[in-house]
Amino acid sequence: AVNFIDKIRGGESMGKTIFKSEPLIDWSKEEERTKLSKALREVRGNLGALYHPIIAGKRVRTVSRERIVSKNPSNPDEIIGRVCVAGKEEADKAISTIQHADADKKWAQTPPKERAECLRRMAQIFRKRRYFFIALGMLEVGKTALEMDGEVAEGIDFLEYYAACALVLVKINQESLLQPPGEKNTGVYEPLGIGVSIQPWNFPFAISVGPAAAALVMGNSILYKPAEQSSIMGYYIADVFYEAGIPKEMFHYLPGYGADQEEVIGVGNYLANHSAVRFISFTGSRTVADLMEKAVFKFNHETIYTLRPELRFRKQIATLEAGGKNAIIVDSDADVDEAVLAVSDSAFGFGGQKCSACSRLIIVDDKDRSSGLYDMLTRRLAERVEGLPVGSPEDSSNQFGPLIDKSAYKKVTSYVKIAEEEGTVFAKGKVPQGSPETGYFVPPMIVTDLAPDSRMAQEEIFGPVLSVFRVSTFEKALELANNTEFGLTGGVISRNPEHVALAEREFMVGNLYINRKSTGAMPARQPFGGIRQSGNGTKAGGWDYLLNFVQRKNISENTMRHGAVIE
Ligand code: NAD
Repeated sequence: AVNFIDKIRGGESMGKTIFKSEPLIDWSKEEERTKLSKALREVRGNLGALYHPIIAGKRVRTVSRERIVSKNPSNPDEIIGRVCVAGKEEADKAISTIQHADADKKWAQTPPKERAECLRRMAQIFRKRRYFFIALGMLEVGKTALEMDGEVAEGIDFLEYYAACALVLVKINQESLLQPPGEKNTGVYEPLGIGVSIQPWNFPFAISVGPAAAALVMGNSILYKPAEQSSIMGYYIADVFYEAGIPKEMFHYLPGYGADQEEVIGVGNYLANHSAVRFISFTGSRTVADLMEKAVFKFNHETIYTLRPELRFRKQIATLEAGGKNAIIVDSDADVDEAVLAVSDSAFGFGGQKCSACSRLIIVDDKDRSSGLYDMLTRRLAERVEGLPVGSPEDSSNQFGPLIDKSAYKKVTSYVKIAEEEGTVFAKGKVPQGSPETGYFVPPMIVTDLAPDSRMAQEEIFGPVLSVFRVSTFEKALELANNTEFGLTGGVISRNPEHVALAEREFMVGNLYINRKSTGAMPARQPFGGIRQSGNGTKAGGWDYLLNFVQRKNISENTMRHGAVIE
């Protein structure tokens, strides 16, 4: 077991360290800021360009004339680009490219080392183009440079870590088998086949690069559908995949809608239900996650019987990552300074648009025997919220930028009314004048006096809105924290080792953070993914993530000779 763990961590038994986290950019250096300004100019040099789907490395004209218009959410008048929408014809073409050239067999038989080398080359190219991707994310999804840099580093980490893990896993699969005399046992990881990767806009870089690279390194092919709002980021990512040497038939960029629209089909929905698509890798909302499960069920129970027997695989969800309603518990003995920082970073970073964002704060402070913690903490957080600079991410003094689009703006602002009905709006920040016409900015907000089953306490809002609750004991705090259908991240700020141990046992989340913020998971350090309605428990950035993309074959040969064959 030690040897195994050592290998995964890249310890001495491998002779070298297999993985180191990518360092972040030091923005205090002027030369770094100059590089970013140059990259912003580069992105702006291409404003309004037309982007096409890429099938087998070739940009293709779409049958439909439908376009997705990608706008800068900090300034919707600025059009980042127009994207030709892929539909049925483009999806079918991509799938038949994979099937007909026997490319999938070739790629599956490519030595894992060569496939891993492709990922390492991608990482190298992304390092070189890092500022471009940061700038593009700032303009297309409104993230700050700091947040975007963290995300690009995470994507590079996925590539390096999965490349290393792929090789180690192949080795372990073989070495784990007993080989008694006269018997030769061989373990093989076979790719699943054709997969669709449907991803969200809120981590347009890392959550596009990671799942696709993981599937590819294990020998699968990928039909990549980025979110509508971040289709241009997807385009440039696809470009790097080809440049790094992923065989062109094995990867296709199919931007388009998720769900069917009036005039055009949703390429996401079409691909998920396609009878040649063996697996789905999905990150997004809980509602669409349900549709992915339905697609799998429908295929395995209905469609399958219309196919020839040799085409009847079991469609499966490889990875499924959905939303959250994450809570941080601040214990009665917590350090208030630490709590203010951890909570406000977790709740308001990227305007609360991270799946891991804290949206519920639970303070342990008995009303009848109050230590004053509740009043002190809510007051300190209110002061912070009221002074948080919100505005364009291009101004580095802003803590966070806009919401992604008009519909997100409408949704999040509708919760202001709900908050007023269900509780008390305790504090509200400011936004630049002119919003939403001049940018989809919403103020950070703290809401108190809410019931545990209120909508504010149960629904994922995906904006800078923090609901605060007060309880008398740590046990009650845990009970309240667990009182949602989700189970993504959770946090505890406490100096009490018994309470920390209790939380470790009973907080029903995929990622628990103690005495720190609940966002910012790093590959190989905090493998990330939720449980319950937040996901199927797979861990992005974990050594076992790659196993979601393979089927295991075992070959056992009797090597005792029973006579010889004479030629
Ligand atoms: P979304 O569910 O609206 O969209 C996600 C993707 O699904 C997009 O590419 C979209 O086009 C596609 N899609 C939509 N309808 C579809 C359909 N009927 N068939 C096939 N595809 C369809 O989510 P979003 O707004 O892009 O992202 C935000 C959500 O993602 C939040 O709920 C957030 O918590 C979640 N998220 C979770 C994680 C995680 O690791 N658990 C990470 C990031 C985001």
